[in-house]
Amino acid sequence: MTDTLTPLLALSRNLGEPHHDYVILGEGNTSARIDADRFWVKASGVSLVGITGDGFVQVDTSKILAFLDEDLSDTAIKDRLTAAVIAGSGRPSVETALHALALTLGGARFVGHTHPTAVNAVLCSRQAEQAVSGRLFPDEIVVCGPAPLFIPYIDPGLPLARAVREGIERHIRQYGEPPRVILMQNHGLVALGQTAEAVEQITAMMVKTARILLGTYALGGPQFLSPEAVARIHTRPDEHYRRGRLQSNTGSTRGNDE
Ligand SMILES: [Zn+2]
Repeated sequence: MTDTLTPLLALSRNLGEPHHDYVILGEGNTSARIDADRFWVKASGVSLVGITGDGFVQVDTSKILAFLDEDLSDTAIKDRLTAAVIAGSGRPSVETALHALALTLGGARFVGHTHPTAVNAVLCSRQAEQAVSGRLFPDEIVVCGPAPLFIPYIDPGLPLARAVREGIERHIRQYGEPPRVILMQNHGLVALGQTAEAVEQITAMMVKTARILLGTYALGGPQFLSPEAVARIHTRPDEHYRRGRLQSNTGSTRGNDE
């Protein structure tokens, strides 16, 4: 077991805990960057809750990224995913290309993809895109960044991965940094973190945001913060300090009391 796999296992088990209501059955997947050439990703069909080292495969990053620009059938994609395995048994999840992008272009070291009920209540609604188009409260910005990347529904697999690639590039041009949250319409959430703990914090804060958002629609809809207020919180030195403290707090997602 490497240093990367240990925190990845803890992250995966925590995200899979039933009380969070982030995933059920074999839903969701996680990954971690080993180095520039390799990453760990959950094998297809394995449940996050209680997952062990056997539930992960080590894959070749460049082999996964290479097939994004090819026109491959579903069968060919599965063969290519299997061919990219360096270590471990099992087949990498079909969402592995998405993880490869988050761990390279997206600058993440750990990634958690879940289907939280609260987030999907928003993302499966008629007002999904409008509902996530603004920020609601300062801690959302501190933990989840100035904006999530919203991806309109598209066929999972290669079309989705290509849309995510374009979306991350657009987000970097607009905000000068990669997104920490990707929201995929009618699908779920991807949290991009520098640490396993950051992925848990981002996921928990996005779920809280979704619950608050759903609540606002009972009282006339969300009152978004102004873009100036969002930018101010995102760039304030004391908020940088808080973010640094949050990320060095390796205890739990419940450590933020401010
Ligand atoms: Zn998914």
